[in-house]
Amino acid sequence: MKRFFLSLLFLPIYLFALKIEQTPIEFSKVRVELTKEYIKTHYNLDVKDIKIVPKMVVVHHTAIDDFSDSLSRFKAEALPSDRPDIKGGGALNVSTHFMVERDGTIHQLMPLDFMARHVIGLNYNSIGIENVGGQNSKDNLTKEQLEANIFLVKELKKRFDTIEYVIGHYEYRCFEGSELWLEVDDGYRTFKDDPSVRFMNELRANIEGFKVAPCANETND
Ligand SMILES: [Zn+2]
Repeated sequence: MKRFFLSLLFLPIYLFALKIEQTPIEFSKVRVELTKEYIKTHYNLDVKDIKIVPKMVVVHHTAIDDFSDSLSRFKAEALPSDRPDIKGGGALNVSTHFMVERDGTIHQLMPLDFMARHVIGLNYNSIGIENVGGQNSKDNLTKEQLEANIFLVKELKKRFDTIEYVIGHYEYRCFEGSELWLEVDDGYRTFKDDPSVRFMNELRANIEGFKVAPCANETND
């Protein structure tokens, strides 16, 4: 009987103590220098290093349903030639702090205090979580990914008390004109619909203590 109660007590703790795998992408001096260049060009800031103070978490999907194909998009340090959509944004390849597989496995790809290139205007203030999925704009992120995102967001809030917002990538333009928005090129924008309103609503229903994007279309806090 005692053992039964103990196992009940420990079950939730076990469920939320998810592991974070270390799966580093290449981040040599080359990528650091390209990041500094990006910060200069896009944010008009001269920085000594690429360290950030995170104010928000930005949630994405990769638009590719396979994990290794998704990961390969972020590996190279310079932007591959098949990304003409964001080539105007500079030579730095995209990156993300975390990638979550469809079974919920969490990978950390780079140091959390380095700037990643994952969201126009807000890179210098944010931590990125990419979820594998959303190919052909399908709203197909899994329950396991939702649980992993809930865990990660809570974990990040514990590590960085500067984090105030959790937003979906599709909400990034809500911050234009706010003090967090740094992009100086008014012509540099891309349309984003990831990860999905449904996924963000489910995530927000399971976390508390965060502000929502100024134009979020629901009322959870
Ligand atoms: Zn995105």
